[in-house]
Amino acid sequence: MSKELIKAIAFDNTIRIAAVDATEVVREAQRAHDTWQASTAALGRTLAAGLLFGSDIKDDARLAIKIAGDGPAGKIVVMADGSGEVKGYVDQPHISLPENDQNKIDVKGAVGTNGMVTVTKDLGLKEPFSGQSPIVSGEIAEDLTYYLTVSEQTPSAMGLGVLVNPDESVENAGGWMIQVIPDASEETIEQVETAVANVPAITTMLSEGKTATEIIFELLGEENVKILDERSVAFKCDCSKAHFARGLATLPVEDLDTIIEEDGEAETVCHFCNQAYHYSKEELEAIREEANHK
Ligand SMILES: [Zn+2]
Repeated sequence: MSKELIKAIAFDNTIRIAAVDATEVVREAQRAHDTWQASTAALGRTLAAGLLFGSDIKDDARLAIKIAGDGPAGKIVVMADGSGEVKGYVDQPHISLPENDQNKIDVKGAVGTNGMVTVTKDLGLKEPFSGQSPIVSGEIAEDLTYYLTVSEQTPSAMGLGVLVNPDESVENAGGWMIQVIPDASEETIEQVETAVANVPAITTMLSEGKTATEIIFELLGEENVKILDERSVAFKCDCSKAHFARGLATLPVEDLDTIIEEDGEAETVCHFCNQAYHYSKEELEAIREEANHK
């Protein structure tokens, strides 16, 4: 089976393209966060975008996409690395909205049309890179295309989609991203614009059984494309009980005493994967001991 995230170049290296089948990733996110239709689509599109952005960075580099709009879903945060691993959450997982006038999930209604897109990239350099642009549509693909064009000066096109079943399970999800290198010819740009205007929705192509590679061929033509890299993708969080214990140990000792005396236990829940970690009284006392020595 071909891998889910494919990166390629086309038209004499003047066009970069990546495509991802994020179906399993978004299924896992939907189950972890128990998201409803509009929240699933908003988070799922951003997860697919995180993987596409991640195709451009080294395996151990990391990036974060934050979409903070004024809609009922609240903010969406996705973190991805260059190896195909991604995690993320949406503030309000239980947003379900009537379909929009194109019979699609109303992502704009969930995200809102006012707010900011922030992208941070930690490429292992001295300082992480961070850029911002305003939300322009709330549909996410347009917002991130606008971000790439104005903040990173890379003219881009992007398609993102999530198909949600009536029982809230994810049928399929994915995306594609095209970036134009400055020396692309007018002819190439016109050809790409025509392709982008005519390509079926990503969820339609995935429903037809197309792989990420076939989606790239569908967009730009197999004869014009050279595949550079393929990666597997996964919804994966790097949190652990020990990680959150270190967080608890940074609390003031008096606060830890109050928790130990009044509750006798504690629970922390990871934002990114919704995993809960339970700490017994004995474990909290050990954490308090550690905090006391700081
Ligand atoms: Zn986690």
